[in-house]
Amino acid sequence: MANRGLVIQALFDLGPTSRAELARRAGVNRTTISGIVQPLIDNDVLVEIEPVQSKRSGGKPARPLWFSPSARPICGVLLMPDAVQACLVTVDGAIIAVNRIALPNGDGPVGPIIRAIKKTTRSALDRAVRKPLGIGVAVGAMVDTDQGSIVTMNLAPSLDGYPLAAELRREFGLPVRLDHHPRALLVGDRWFGKGRGAAQFAAIYTGEVLGGAFYLDGRLYRGVGGAGGELGHTFVQVGGELCRCGRRGCWDTIATLSWLRREAKAVGLPQPGEMNSGALMQLVVAGDPRAATLADRYANNIAVGIANVQQTLAPNDYILHGEVVLGGAPMIEAIAAHVRRLVPNRPGLNIEISAGEPGDRAALLGAAGLVLSDLLRLSI
Ligand SMILES: [Zn+2]
Repeated sequence: MANRGLVIQALFDLGPTSRAELARRAGVNRTTISGIVQPLIDNDVLVEIEPVQSKRSGGKPARPLWFSPSARPICGVLLMPDAVQACLVTVDGAIIAVNRIALPNGDGPVGPIIRAIKKTTRSALDRAVRKPLGIGVAVGAMVDTDQGSIVTMNLAPSLDGYPLAAELRREFGLPVRLDHHPRALLVGDRWFGKGRGAAQFAAIYTGEVLGGAFYLDGRLYRGVGGAGGELGHTFVQVGGELCRCGRRGCWDTIATLSWLRREAKAVGLPQPGEMNSGALMQLVVAGDPRAATLADRYANNIAVGIANVQQTLAPNDYILHGEVVLGGAPMIEAIAAHVRRLVPNRPGLNIEISAGEPGDRAALLGAAGLVLSDLLRLSI
């Protein structure tokens, strides 16, 4: 089983790969590899594909193995305080049948919210030609991954304590895996995005809320019961501003959209209620000095939290998701410059900060990836 995980991980890391190369990577012999991959081929998880033609003439090139496009798909669900999305994901990383439903008020009764989640999940499942392998749910809330429940959703408190995985399992009769939204982003990055092949990196999500996930020494790190990654509520100022979580001085109070919009209004920028990194950087390009100052303060406030992560765990590579990506390279570079300034210089420590996708694709892929890792007993 562990070997099967190594083989699947190697395929995600390397792309289509021959049996011989897989054997080398997994540190096993050809017979063992055949024993691992043949059941996966028989179950249509893997297929042999056409080799890339070598320019040199000679022996017949080995046929590489890759994920079968007709393998059973996985249902990926993304639950945020304002909306729920569901889709089908193929094991080779294609997203199909995405649909989205806006959620009713997160302070109201929980019944209509759960009905909306089931409805959008069902619409995705109904599009599956083959029975899906399971349902992966990424939730923008504090979660208990052991129980598959939502602990606290600050912006939709009706869902606090809700055992969502058990409810979806009962409704659809499929395995369900529930995890923190930033961890789904990280899984999406690791398997299908910029984290492919990386031994360690962090995914950071910014926007209405802040959160993060860590891939350390070749493993996704969750903390006890999935309690890790609540970066938005790490403290950046003792006795600072009151946070929506009830504590004071959280990173969330200085580096989310609500801070940006409030400050945009305070300095007199146009349409402050709609402000985001994209609009802000357009104003900077147009030569507005107030926007330039605000963009730099925002970049610095985001960098403060990343610098704390770097000092604690040193993942070194950061993939940023969410609204900062809308600010393009100048915003990402401004954040990187502040992080490097805030972290003491150390030879050989080159902190890299890059942009993931601003949209929800990575989270949907990652939500599905949570199920796949479970089924294949991978570390991620
Ligand atoms: Zn807080």
